[in-house]
Amino acid sequence: MTETRVLLANIDEPDLNTIAVYERLGGYRAMRKALLEMSAEDVLHELGESGLRGRGGAGFSMGKKASFIPKGAMDKYLCCNADESEPGTFKDRLLMQKNPHLLVEGCIIGSIAAGANKGFIFIRGEYSVQADILEDAVAEAYEKGYLGERILDSGHTFDLVVHRGQGAYICGEETGLLDALEGKRGNPRLKPPFPANQGLYQGPTLINNVETLCNAPIIIDHGADWYRKFGEGNSTGTKIVSVSGNVQRPGNFEVELGVTVRELIYGLAGGPPEGRELKCFFPGGSSAPVLTKEHLDLPYTFEAMAQAGSMLGSGAIIVVDESEPLVPLALRLAEFYRHESCGKCVPCREGTNWTVKVLERVDEGEGTPMDLEILEQVQGNIIGNCLCVLGDSMAMPVASMLTHFREEFEQHMEEARLARDLEELPAMGAGELGAVPEAGPV
Ligand code: SF4
Repeated sequence: MTETRVLLANIDEPDLNTIAVYERLGGYRAMRKALLEMSAEDVLHELGESGLRGRGGAGFSMGKKASFIPKGAMDKYLCCNADESEPGTFKDRLLMQKNPHLLVEGCIIGSIAAGANKGFIFIRGEYSVQADILEDAVAEAYEKGYLGERILDSGHTFDLVVHRGQGAYICGEETGLLDALEGKRGNPRLKPPFPANQGLYQGPTLINNVETLCNAPIIIDHGADWYRKFGEGNSTGTKIVSVSGNVQRPGNFEVELGVTVRELIYGLAGGPPEGRELKCFFPGGSSAPVLTKEHLDLPYTFEAMAQAGSMLGSGAIIVVDESEPLVPLALRLAEFYRHESCGKCVPCREGTNWTVKVLERVDEGEGTPMDLEILEQVQGNIIGNCLCVLGDSMAMPVASMLTHFREEFEQHMEEARLARDLEELPAMGAGELGAVPEAGPV
């Protein structure tokens, strides 16, 4: 099994982060084409025809999203969501660190499609190395006249700013990101209105993920028909998949959408360590419901993952082998989402807290069978009832673990209870039953 490298084609080229090397390899050719040979409508049409879907989680068509931006002379914005915080996802980091000009060029092409004159790359605070690299790339692009007023003497003006977040997962939610950019607490907004109509500073805003925007120069350069040859059905193109967890070769792998999950986990990532079997896997980052061995031969596409009851999400597969107990894993997950919940709506704020408390009881041997019922009910009350997707991001995987592995939860609870009872025995023996006599000679 080999990769199909399109986005990562030149990733190992030394100094690819510099504009000289990027241009030597064909960089900024697509921008020139888009600015000098195509109209904004042509660019939008090409992106739409390519079938490119968002690579950040929702999988919404990039062309369709850009087409929602109203025409007219108002201030419009482009925002690149580089707040890659989903546990298990680390592919945008690679693109920004090694090939920052691909993203800058993608932002310029996105701005043409959206008619935006101002853009921001909102990068998570922890990615300081990548933010420095991006800032250098933006400065180089300004020096070359690829950013700023009337780029290459075309009628298009576009300014781009790298904005560093402060390390909140919720700022990866598009409206939380907009609030943070405006200098407020990063709380999600009630939708509608959607950002395409009322986004940053109330202006129409196109928000796309790093990997999504990095596809734009490739599509404009080679054409939508060429791009559509990759992939399967409505999942066109290639995808960088981060594979981590219990595998022998964790890493980022670029594949055509439609390869099987087995090829990704076993072919590219080497499968679980010797002698261990796969128990389950998260197909789209930690917020995706888990799937099991029986799903290994499904094609890795947006549709197949959804039909199996999960999602492709950000394109990050986390593998869990038989040696990993699921209760502590579910607890760790719930603790993360409880910590990151902004607290604005009740199902998420209270539900994540309840989930942690119930899982703690189960894990510490204080649970009862009723706790598993409560756990299930709480997840059911969160899913679909929150202001943004964060609540569901915890509830869906926890509920799926409970559905697929209920017996393991019951067994874990029983074993934890026995272990706790055993721990308490010596104290009972000394204090309540009297000292145990020492064994004498037989
Ligand atoms: Fe905040 Fe959670 Fe509600 Fe999202 S779901 S708005 S993170 S409380």
